[in-house]
Amino acid sequence: MARSHPLDRYRNIGICAHIDAGKTTTTERILYYTGKSYRMGEVHEGTAAMDWMEQEQERGITITSAATTCFWRDHRVNIIDTPGHVDFTIEVERSLRVLDGAVALFDAVAGVEPQSETVWRQADKYRVPRMCFVNKMDRVGADFFGTVQMIQERLGADTAVLQLPIKTEAGFTGVVDLVKNKAIVWKEETLGAEFFEAEVPAALAEQASVYRARLVEQAVEMDEAATERYLEGEEPDEAALKALIRKGTIALRLVPVLCGSAFKNKGVQPMLDAVVDFLPSPLDIHDVAGVALDGEPTSRQTDDAAPFAGLAFKVMNDPFAGSLTFVRVYSGRVAVGDRVLNATKGEKESVSRMLLMHANTREEIDAACAGDIVALAGLANTTTGDTLCDPAAPLVLERMEFPEPVIEVVVEPKTQADHDRMAMALQRLAAEDPSFRVGRDAETGQTVIGGMGELHLEIIVDRMRREYRVEADVGAPQVAYRETIAQKAEVAHTLKRQVGAMGQFAQVTLAFEPSEPGSGFRFENKVGGKLPKEFAHGAQG
Ligand code: GDP
Repeated sequence: MARSHPLDRYRNIGICAHIDAGKTTTTERILYYTGKSYRMGEVHEGTAAMDWMEQEQERGITITSAATTCFWRDHRVNIIDTPGHVDFTIEVERSLRVLDGAVALFDAVAGVEPQSETVWRQADKYRVPRMCFVNKMDRVGADFFGTVQMIQERLGADTAVLQLPIKTEAGFTGVVDLVKNKAIVWKEETLGAEFFEAEVPAALAEQASVYRARLVEQAVEMDEAATERYLEGEEPDEAALKALIRKGTIALRLVPVLCGSAFKNKGVQPMLDAVVDFLPSPLDIHDVAGVALDGEPTSRQTDDAAPFAGLAFKVMNDPFAGSLTFVRVYSGRVAVGDRVLNATKGEKESVSRMLLMHANTREEIDAACAGDIVALAGLANTTTGDTLCDPAAPLVLERMEFPEPVIEVVVEPKTQADHDRMAMALQRLAAEDPSFRVGRDAETGQTVIGGMGELHLEIIVDRMRREYRVEADVGAPQVAYRETIAQKAEVAHTLKRQVGAMGQFAQVTLAFEPSEPGSGFRFENKVGGKLPKEFAHGAQG
């Protein structure tokens, strides 16, 4: 099978944002403009393309990490969904692991919010090239320059401002494109779906020339020859300027910043242009590292001719296709019918079907190549983070890190039938989500589930009920082992057992905090009144 697009026309991107910054709206507009979406609906109507799961729509948060393929300017853009809620940073992390570039979205009123900061740090860790989209420019109080300043100061980004807003709030009509030195104005009659180019408005001419000069200076610094020519008085033309910005972005030296209002359909098309112009293709990214089975470090090139290697980054139950394993193919080619090796587990798996997910269709395909993100069906025992590869060239790709759960609850099925269904439900949910753990209380024999936060566990329990018809009583959340007290794990374990024995649904929350080194732990009874006296003042480690 020939590839539909050469590798340099691939963009595997994520859109990262604090909850409510407008990620769902923006994604939906992208899918609309790229021609793959059905209709433009508002989030609260529940038609947003990426929000597949019922409960996501109810809660207005995106918790899955599926990928959607669309096309822009003859480029193949795979959008990997990244969740915005703090309980799901682990999901953000795993999606960052498989994408090549990201668009960080900000609310122009709120600026840099806590979750945008967390995601930014994670993207730093994985060295993901980024651009920023300052959304909600139509809102009262929208402050583009304030947001840019926050991005610089709080996130330490070297921002390259590529656009200036033409007015803000209700008057926001367009942007000045500093690269082209033109204004882009959206037509009100088509609710912003169409736009035209115009001269830079006189009121903005001076500001635009200052910002353009700054942009050119930042850009030429990305290349010695360009700097020299610039010093001799030669300005880069539009194509050269774009190439320099692209170089700086991929090298993590520049972060292009654009603005708009996804909700009012302003700014999304230029943002897609910028994804194509500035974010990396799989070829711009380093070879993916791994270890061979003998423990020797090894790597794979992004190349169709290399042996197949891919990383499973999401397992999810699709209402139409059953269990799907989303895989990023790093090298080689994988086809339907192939026997592949799950090198992490040391087992072979068969690929029975392969799907490409579009906004509203699932395309049945025969094979996938380096750079692709596809959903595989038929894998029996592959979980998130596993490496799939050619059995003749085994390797395990860089591992994803899954933190220990921070919170636990006891779940007690209501009937025997619920009990049986729960066992299956928990097994499947744990396969989908490595940050979710299932265990048994040593003393009481009850099932204990652990996760990244209360909302995380709430969603798990909700999914058990909806998807597997399990009715269960849920105990009060308890703080699970924290990484900070790992060295004191034994003490914590003993105490946890003792506390557990106090009663199955005791209304207590414990905070384990290490105090002075060697002095043991301090315990706080967050609810009060229920802790036996001997726990109240801590125990020696
Ligand atoms: P997410 O949580 O990041 O996915 O954010 P949503 O896309 O669900 O948006 C959160 C809210 O902000 C919704 O009510 C949207 O209609 C609204 N919203 C999104 N983009 C804009 C925008 O550009 N301007 C305004 N005024 N509201 C927006």
